Amino acid sequence: MASQFKNDIKFLKGVGPKRAELLKKELDIHSFEDLLNYFPYRHTDRSKFYKISELKDGMPMVQILAKVHVPQTVGGKRFSRLTAMCSDETGSLELVWFKGAKWIKDSIKPGKQYVIFGKPASYKNKLNMAHPDMELLENWQQKPATGLMPHYNTTEALKKHKLHSKAIQKLQENLINSLNEPIPETLPEWMRQKYRLIGKEEAIRNMHFPRDADNLSRASYRLKFEELFFIQLGMVKSRHQRKHNIPGYVFSKVGKHFNEFYNNYLPFELTGAQKRVIKEIRRDLGSGQHMNRLLQGDVGSGKTLVALMCMLIAIDNEYQAALMVPTEILAQQHFQSITGIITGMNLRVELLTGSTKQKDRKPIHEGLQSGDVDILIGTHALLEDVVEFQKLGLTIIDEQHRFGVSQRARLWKKSDQPPHVLVMTATPIPRTLAMTIYGDLDVSTIDELPPGRKPVMTKHATDSQRLRVFQFMRDEIAKKRQIFMVYPLISESEHMDYKDHEDGVESMLRAFPRPDYQVAVVHGKMKPVEKEKSMQYFKSGAADILVATTVIEVGVDIPNATVLILESAERFGLSQMHQLRGRVGRGAEQSYCILMTKNKLGDNSRQRIEVMTRSNDGFEIAEADMKLRGPGDIEGTQQSGLPINLKIANLGRDQQLLQFVRNIADHILQKDPELNLPENHLLKKELNKQNKNKLLWRLIS
Ligand code: ADP
Ligand code: MG
Repeated sequence: MASQFKNDIKFLKGVGPKRAELLKKELDIHSFEDLLNYFPYRHTDRSKFYKISELKDGMPMVQILAKVHVPQTVGGKRFSRLTAMCSDETGSLELVWFKGAKWIKDSIKPGKQYVIFGKPASYKNKLNMAHPDMELLENWQQKPATGLMPHYNTTEALKKHKLHSKAIQKLQENLINSLNEPIPETLPEWMRQKYRLIGKEEAIRNMHFPRDADNLSRASYRLKFEELFFIQLGMVKSRHQRKHNIPGYVFSKVGKHFNEFYNNYLPFELTGAQKRVIKEIRRDLGSGQHMNRLLQGDVGSGKTLVALMCMLIAIDNEYQAALMVPTEILAQQHFQSITGIITGMNLRVELLTGSTKQKDRKPIHEGLQSGDVDILIGTHALLEDVVEFQKLGLTIIDEQHRFGVSQRARLWKKSDQPPHVLVMTATPIPRTLAMTIYGDLDVSTIDELPPGRKPVMTKHATDSQRLRVFQFMRDEIAKKRQIFMVYPLISESEHMDYKDHEDGVESMLRAFPRPDYQVAVVHGKMKPVEKEKSMQYFKSGAADILVATTVIEVGVDIPNATVLILESAERFGLSQMHQLRGRVGRGAEQSYCILMTKNKLGDNSRQRIEVMTRSNDGFEIAEADMKLRGPGDIEGTQQSGLPINLKIANLGRDQQLLQFVRNIADHILQKDPELNLPENHLLKKELNKQNKNKLLWRLIS
């Protein structure tokens, strides 16, 4: 017999086809099971009754027991409202409705005792309660003695069809009361005992309708535990599998090139963090297991040097290495800086991008095939099928958030067995998120900037302060410093934003006229060669100002640029602003970032700007970003960018729990990698089910 839990939601009493469509569309609730797993976002305490005399303005929702008197319509035509007095032995209170007056008037039974629930507020020095929840005492008493009342997120569309929180509560009640089979357990007995977790059935029931706070907290702990645990179990398992099933080339020696570089070419002392991550990577490369490692380090932390040294290890072991980056500008820049650092060493480095001329490609292709080319640097062009290596041993992907999984997979096919992969990102993500999204990768972190860096000073300026900002720019230019001026361009095809940039160029040319000032321009619609020419012009010091779009976002390294002005900063997300700010502060001089916004800002924008002016720490900013965007809030902003939709746990708040369950998952899989022991049978079953449900979408983009 098919399980009741799989039933289509439309068959639940009180739903029907129309509401079912909405529940599916708005809340992704398709089955009975989905509804059970749609948890309230909070509960209100309805175990206590307040006396009217105890009520004060500003209290949260409270519950009273009072007799309701005859309602009256008051006010003129335009401000008509319904009021009703209610009273208990300690005093009286006005109830008020601005909408639905007729219906309420008809349904109130004057003289009866009601359980009234709402928020007391003060109006003209008198307390009242607007749009309270009311229930006749005689009906209320028939209910089970539930202390805490659940509140569910709904959407505007749902509310239009009378699916308010209250209605969802009713549906949950209908469902839970009609269950004729137990809710299947997903965690084995031994785990529940060891970690003191209540059973699934009890947890689900109490999550919706807990008797008291203690009950609720045990239910929510059990469910959060389970949610995070299975994500980690899946992640750790696929990591184990990769390590044991995919062989890796063995780079056993650290040889000639690495040592030669280290002794004679290293442009500066490595930071402690750089040394540590090189060691971590070296250990992987020598292990015989396939490396799939994420290297995260804040902007300017020196990842390129780490990448280069790892590539030298590959070369020392007779392998080739590839460095793939998302933009032409970045490819050019890496090519120049790497060939610059290793000039004099006997190595062949080539650059391959979309704009590499046809006639130049052939020798590169041949060199790659014969093994003559040691290092290939490039963009997506690297993925083309004609690009064949003799022996590709290591692939490094820079600024990986621009590359998708399928592209990584294509790289794997470039050799008979997958090359080691090092993914570098300058967008630090909170640890919990890293464990959740990249949980199957190993992670190395550069948590230290090269010495002597002065933190970038970040200031907020509004449009009305523009003239002062221009003056500041002139002062900096007089000191021979250079300036980035960045306009938002969210997608390079968005005409409106492109226009912004054009206007910007014009106004810059007016405010900074030739011949006193030189302004260079770069944007995404230019041909790669032109872009490159502009960048070079700026980099050479010939231009004072580079008016750019976000094409300069990643990696661009021009140490003499000390000011970055971000126009319409309120339009940027935190991590992007931080990324852009990383374009300055790369030299020894004090650098500045000025966030220009319109005069009036929304709450969220203001908070983002505030975080930026307060902190230079990418990890701190990433944490703030996660908190501001608040994972999993339905009525508010959709959780943009978060690839995993958590039902109950919160990656911001449940960090410790996440680490805890990760360790448990690790431990279990150490002992039982395939989850074949009888005691882990349930885990295997649930993991398979979740994988099938695509709960774990491995989205790396
Ligand atoms: P990112 O991690 O953002 O890619 P880069 O690799 O571009 O950073 O390095 C930023 C700047 O720091 C470069 O100019 C680089 O030459 C310099 N740099 C890297 N490592 C060190 C170091 N150990 N000491 C001093 N400067 C360094
Ligand atoms: Mg970089």
